Amino acid sequence: MKKVSLVIPMYYEEEVANECYNRLVQVLGTIKDKYEYEIVFVNDGSKDKTLSILEEIAGKDKNVKVISFSRNFGHQAAVTCGLRYTTGDAVVIMDADLQDPPELIPDMLKYWEEGNEVIYGKRKSRDGESFFKLFTAKTFYQVLNGLSEVEIPKDTGDFRLVDRKVVDVVNNLPEHNKFLRGLFSWVGFNQYAYEYERKERFAGETKYPLKKMLKLASDGIINFSSKPLKFIGKLGILCFIVSFCLFVYKIVALCMQVQTVAPGWASIMIAMTFLTGVILMSLYLIGEYISRIFDNIKGRPEFIVKSTINV
Ligand code: UDP
Ligand code: MG
Repeated sequence: MKKVSLVIPMYYEEEVANECYNRLVQVLGTIKDKYEYEIVFVNDGSKDKTLSILEEIAGKDKNVKVISFSRNFGHQAAVTCGLRYTTGDAVVIMDADLQDPPELIPDMLKYWEEGNEVIYGKRKSRDGESFFKLFTAKTFYQVLNGLSEVEIPKDTGDFRLVDRKVVDVVNNLPEHNKFLRGLFSWVGFNQYAYEYERKERFAGETKYPLKKMLKLASDGIINFSSKPLKFIGKLGILCFIVSFCLFVYKIVALCMQVQTVAPGWASIMIAMTFLTGVILMSLYLIGEYISRIFDNIKGRPEFIVKSTINV
């Protein structure tokens, strides 16, 4: 029998933990003749009753694994950890707050059985999210896609069903500060955009304050783009152009023996813009080396083989 694993990070989720488990078991019960299940809860350093509730659940249900962090390491770290503890043939990543309805899992499994390897949830609508959240999310995905070298689907969070093969690839990526939704897109394989209505949080408040959102956004941009670095180079070139124009202006003024704006002004401006150009280009050069070091440190493979014949 095939096995489905679920990875659920929890940070101060005492209000939703029980409901989350009950809803999952209900849904998984409807497909129990076809799939075994395993739920991996990761307690990301919550100091409320989350852990004791999870311990109680795990005491009753042997299909539940609980991993508890020594402190709060963040949502992406919690999911990364959870993925390593999964053993299923298909792995579903979802939030604890039931914004991503567990009832969709059987349907997503159908797409998986059809040969899709990453079925990512694409939000058709987002109930109960503030204007601020919607606006910042939209702007972020526009900026990210403008900058990124791989296409990262917009309106997509971490809710997805992933084949074991893909989970193994992601588990073997040594990079830190993972931006999982970017990586799941970067790995390739057969991807399927599964449209769904994102619900309101079942209870409690968002655990993603602006500070954490900014950290996630910067991980997304810096891990997937070297364009900010290239921008320094462009700025440097602009300085050289300005410097050159001023130089021509100065020469022409000298030849025609006309006085420039103020004595010495053009010379100082030429020196200033030229030197700024030199500094920016040097920074760009250093940055290019650093970006290569960064690429190597991230340790992403240069390619991922999906299948071979006669080897
Ligand atoms: N979460 C986590 N660690 C954190 C922040 C959030 O494990 O530092 C979990 C949280 O418990 C939830 C999921 O990540 O299961 C998504 O968080 P939340 O629903 O608060 O984010 P939002 O839906 O508001 O973006
Ligand atoms: Mg949520």
